[in-house]
Amino acid sequence: MSNLMNAAVAHQFGAPLSLEKRPIPYPAPGQVLVKLRASGICHTDLHAVDGDWPVKPTLPFVPGHEGAGIVVACGSGVRGVREGDAVGIAWLHDACGGCEYCETGWETLCEAQHNSGYGVDGTFADYAIGAADYVARLPAHCDFVQMAPILCAGVTTYKGIRETEARPGEWIAICGVGGLGHLAIQYAKAMGLHVVALDVTAEKLALARDCGADAAVSAAAPDAIEQVRTLTGGGAHGVLVTAVSRAAFSQAIGMVRRRGTVSFVGLPPGGFETPIFDVVLKRITLRGSIIGTRQDLAEAVAFAAEGKVRASVERVHLDQINDVFARLRNGTLRARAVIEFDA
Ligand code: NAD
Ligand code: ZN
Ligand code: ZN
Repeated sequence: MSNLMNAAVAHQFGAPLSLEKRPIPYPAPGQVLVKLRASGICHTDLHAVDGDWPVKPTLPFVPGHEGAGIVVACGSGVRGVREGDAVGIAWLHDACGGCEYCETGWETLCEAQHNSGYGVDGTFADYAIGAADYVARLPAHCDFVQMAPILCAGVTTYKGIRETEARPGEWIAICGVGGLGHLAIQYAKAMGLHVVALDVTAEKLALARDCGADAAVSAAAPDAIEQVRTLTGGGAHGVLVTAVSRAAFSQAIGMVRRRGTVSFVGLPPGGFETPIFDVVLKRITLRGSIIGTRQDLAEAVAFAAEGKVRASVERVHLDQINDVFARLRNGTLRARAVIEFDA
């Protein structure tokens, strides 16, 4: 192989990514070099490139954190992963392993963590570095394009649904039917929940029904909350918010049943209105949820490997990244775009 690779690089917040040749990185001790076969494009990558959040990545950087591929080289001291293994590089690039969060199975909250495509170069490139102890194990010969979105959109919604504590037979409302939401609907159905999905366009509501939602409601309808409360017989037991919209966060609180939990995973910049009286008197739980642990990731991958969830993907090439970002921005991307790399 030549020692150069193709990569999409962010040099300036809010500007298009530039397509460049970069040296193929070399795996340090404990790291693996992954030849990527596919990388999903998450709305988080757009937030990263736009510099939307309080803690910004250091420029320049390569975004991408839904990378699926094959290990082609191992650094020294790597155990449990070998050349030729199918692995995934996800948002949690690595964590310290020794803090109170790491030691209690909450490595996603480690304050010393690094994130792929944010603090560490990500997967919008032919090759990327993974930490051997944190890469996802994928089934040999899996469909990499299908599997890539599970590495963030899949695990985040699988975990977020569980964080609502809604049980089989109960109702969950899923707000936002994009890359995350269309998988959330399928996980929720596979977990035995009744699903009402909300988004703002007819195309997204049709996608929700295709993914198995029992009902689809326009979030833009003035009586959206009332419709959900009627459908669910008094409010959804759990609400999962994946929408990139602050208004959706406040709306979600109106949809939840007494004693229910709203799990927030969308990350639009800014804040939202919270009606204190309703939250208190209805004993509502408002909970953030961030990706999932390695164990959550293994479970989320198993659902996909067993065919219980299947990402709806649009295959693209690396050089289409700026077009995909434009469509993510204006909400016209159907479900998930996935970059397919040459084998
Ligand atoms: P996406 O752009 O594919 O989907 C967002 C969806 O929200 C779109 O379908 C859009 O039409 C819909 N939407 C917009 N306004 C709405 C409204 N008012 N009501 C209902 N739906 C509305 O994005 P994605 O890749 O699915 O990511 C969604 C969000 O989740 C992003 O903010 C991303 O950063 C965040 N995220 C969080 C985590 C986490 O661990 N918490 C992980 C991954 C992504
Ligand atoms: Zn993501
Ligand atoms: Zn830690």
